Amino acid sequence: MKFEIQCTRHAARRARLYCEHGLVDTPAFMPVGTYGAVKGMQPSILEALGTQIILANTFHLMLRPGAKLIEAQGGLHGFMQWRRPILTDSGGFQIFSLGALRTITEEGVHFRSPLTGESIFLTPEISVEVQKQLQSDIVMVLDDCTPYPASEKVVRQSMALSLRWAKRCHCAHQAGGSQAALFGIVQGGMYEKERQASLEGLLNIGFDGYAMGGLSVGEPKDLMFEVLEKTLPLLPAHHPRYLMGVGTPSDIARAVALGADLFDCVLPTRHARNGHLFTSEGVVRIRNAVHKNAKRPLDERCACSTCQHYSRAYLHHLDRCKDPLGVVLNTLHNLHTYQTLMKDLQRHIEHGTLSSFVKDIF
Ligand SMILES: [Zn+2]
Repeated sequence: MKFEIQCTRHAARRARLYCEHGLVDTPAFMPVGTYGAVKGMQPSILEALGTQIILANTFHLMLRPGAKLIEAQGGLHGFMQWRRPILTDSGGFQIFSLGALRTITEEGVHFRSPLTGESIFLTPEISVEVQKQLQSDIVMVLDDCTPYPASEKVVRQSMALSLRWAKRCHCAHQAGGSQAALFGIVQGGMYEKERQASLEGLLNIGFDGYAMGGLSVGEPKDLMFEVLEKTLPLLPAHHPRYLMGVGTPSDIARAVALGADLFDCVLPTRHARNGHLFTSEGVVRIRNAVHKNAKRPLDERCACSTCQHYSRAYLHHLDRCKDPLGVVLNTLHNLHTYQTLMKDLQRHIEHGTLSSFVKDIF
């Protein structure tokens, strides 16, 4: 993997990330393809929307249909017919979300499959192996995602475990001879000192890129940005910086201004399925009765095919009927909005007009 910075404006960066399966212009947004599909979207549509990289969930894919099956089908690229880069998460965040259903030990995590109830053991080595079987372009280390709120002592112990796991992931990745990039994940909760210690430990190991993890886990938004403001400038400038699981269009714009390069979030796709649509006038809830007779498009300023061809009344009707076409049209619009935002952010960094653009969005 190669990361080339084209230009910087204050902390923000416009760059190009060259992965095994192609180029990613950054700042970039990765739609989430949980089970090897961005729900309802064919890869050709994702590409037409300007998507250059997607995220897939190791945890879900290892449970169904299983990494060996996907490997035999030509890896995730061949299986889902997506030819551009894929980043796989490590499963850490999904395991964190299982709550009482999992037990964390030094060796790894024991949990019960939410699908079959079967007992499963995931270690840093297994996570790296599974991501290799999926033939991911960017592999993430297995981490212990610290809950919020938590005392500094709990955060320190969790962060130290994540560091030991990061080292094991690095060893397993090197031993496996994979061409994929490996990213470390900065943990440390909301404590500056722990975030710094986490980053220092990761830098000593040495990764291809660095992610900010353990954010957007229920903390107030101001606190999240406080952590980002203090930690992002410490991340090495010549490596990609990935802010995991964030967020709304204005969150992304603010974080780009602080120097983040890569983003993923379920918001545009999950919200689309619930009729919660991002437009240039703010959020539109298409389920509301006010749209029942509306002839106007969802967003007059949007160039997506949903807004070019259909009225709000039709989208409202599809939502009421629970027709899958409604989900497809809504998802297409929300992803178009996110990918257009990323192109706008790239352009405003190049032209030196980012701060006024971010203020406008905010
Ligand atoms: Zn649209």
